[in-house]
Amino acid sequence: MSVIPKNLQAVRSRIAKALQNAHRPADATRLVAISKTFGAPLILEAFDCGQLDFGENYLQEALPKMALVNHALAARGAAAITWHMTGPLQSNKTRAVAQHFSWVHSLDRAKIAERLSAQRPAELPPLKVCLQVNISAEASKSGVLPEEALELAQTIRALPRLELSGLMAIPAPGDGAAFHRLAELLATLKSQGIDLFELSMGMSDDLEEAIAAGATMVRIGTAIFGQRPAAGPAEPAPLSTPHL
Ligand SMILES: *Cc1c(COP(=O)(O)O)cnc(C)c1O
Repeated sequence: MSVIPKNLQAVRSRIAKALQNAHRPADATRLVAISKTFGAPLILEAFDCGQLDFGENYLQEALPKMALVNHALAARGAAAITWHMTGPLQSNKTRAVAQHFSWVHSLDRAKIAERLSAQRPAELPPLKVCLQVNISAEASKSGVLPEEALELAQTIRALPRLELSGLMAIPAPGDGAAFHRLAELLATLKSQGIDLFELSMGMSDDLEEAIAAGATMVRIGTAIFGQRPAAGPAEPAPLSTPHL
């Protein structure tokens, strides 16, 4: 018997309790199950426990298993999964992301935003995006700096096939105030006329703090699927300079 049903139940209880403690509505935070490195059977198992949102980080690893899962669900006539891209975006991968995902949490560059908008298939609704913010201002990390967020948000808002929905961050370990700073940045952007409300923040170890600070989406991997191999599968480097 797999641990997934029990783990999912435990995560849902943690979320419910954190929402209650924060005096927020029971449905205020969406659980995105981060299934990177785990195969299609485990995703389907979580789906069978009622989990509908899944996040992936490594496009090459994700695409074949997403096809397997989507195919299996279509064959059953089951509801479709909502796929979230949460990993770093390279410009030679934007077309596949625009075609296969409903959400991107990790948008941090205008050039990538323009490509995603141009490549979003006409028959799909606009791609929902969160701006990834380097909220702990770490030198090596992805994300725009908070002071650059307004300009990028305005650029994204002008793109027809993207729907700017919110902010995302992965704080540095020990940066306990980071979730509050991201929530404040969201409020600041709103006051500057940018209409967005999602806060994608909180992982297996800190979802309670994130929900207390206003998270509307938590991204949970380990607590649902168990430990991942020490490093995720390496993305092969692009073979040549991508065509723009
Ligand atoms: C892997 C990952 C997660 C999940 O982390 P856990 O600690 O396993 O819950 C969440 N967000 C992003 C962006 C990730 O890469």
